[in-house]
Amino acid sequence: MVKIRQVKRVSGKCWTCAYINELRQLKREKESADACKHLMVMHRGGLFMLERIEYRRRIAEAVIHSPNTVMSSIIDGASQNHCTIPHPGTNVEFADGLPQHIEGVLTHGHCFTIYRSFPTVDADADFTIFCLLSELQKWKDAHDGIFPETWYIQIDGGSENANKYLLAALEYLTAKRLCKKIVLTRLPVGHTHEDIDACFGTLAAWFDRVIIQTPDGYKEQIEAAFNGDSTKLKCKVTDVFVVPNYKDFFSPYIDSKFCRYTKKEWTQHQYRFEAVTISTEFPLGSKLTYRKYSSDRVVVIDKKPIFSCTTREGIITGNKNFLFNYVLFITF
Ligand SMILES: [Zn+2]
Repeated sequence: MVKIRQVKRVSGKCWTCAYINELRQLKREKESADACKHLMVMHRGGLFMLERIEYRRRIAEAVIHSPNTVMSSIIDGASQNHCTIPHPGTNVEFADGLPQHIEGVLTHGHCFTIYRSFPTVDADADFTIFCLLSELQKWKDAHDGIFPETWYIQIDGGSENANKYLLAALEYLTAKRLCKKIVLTRLPVGHTHEDIDACFGTLAAWFDRVIIQTPDGYKEQIEAAFNGDSTKLKCKVTDVFVVPNYKDFFSPYIDSKFCRYTKKEWTQHQYRFEAVTISTEFPLGSKLTYRKYSSDRVVVIDKKPIFSCTTREGIITGNKNFLFNYVLFITF
């Protein structure tokens, strides 16, 4: 009798994790269970841990090695659980409260900023661009008015982040020579838990203990959750009541056929914008390159036609009755 361990539930959908879990349920013999275990180890060590290491490397460059020329930020929205005012405590529900949107931006080595908006401002691409540009402005102010040469930005796959308007805005920054290089990276779907989630965790734990009646009180409590502890980064809340219409500004210049860059197997996880000499090839003086992952080499586990299965795991976990089988291949 083989005991099947349930895969830990994670937010978001990682199709690889889902495939492996499905295989575990379908074929419970020991050999197959072991093969599934190997597949999961390869998925972890060969993909999302490598992406996470690259993310840590970028943070180290910004915080330790080149703090005066390199900036690193991660942006993410808080879940809606604690974002309504009044916040009467954990055991009481308040109907018809005022919803808020809480967007966190962690600029490593600097500050954790909460950009708060109310339903008058949509939490869309314009809002994301506004938050990121505000962070860039703050970094510049803290560095004698000089912009970073390199800016690393980490996002998840939410449509407010992974969209063509943000790409256009970042290209614009390099075309205007504000930054020499900007690298935008996404973590693989379903494996996006990162340091900013620990910040939201601190907030959630704090909000379990407090009762809040007003928007100002909410703001004070967010800052109190962080600023009483000298070991934590400082936190500041910025209220956003209006944002520019970046979408309208950039839309006429974006190729209408540009699409699918955030969809399933076509997803590109890293975009690099570089300021280059103006030429016929780069008329704006900005060069965009992109790649599937930020690591040079990752292991991707995928469904392939049955005759393609050559690895031990693929052969063991496959089933002739299925149209598809599992096979490993390495992408560069
Ligand atoms: Zn996964």
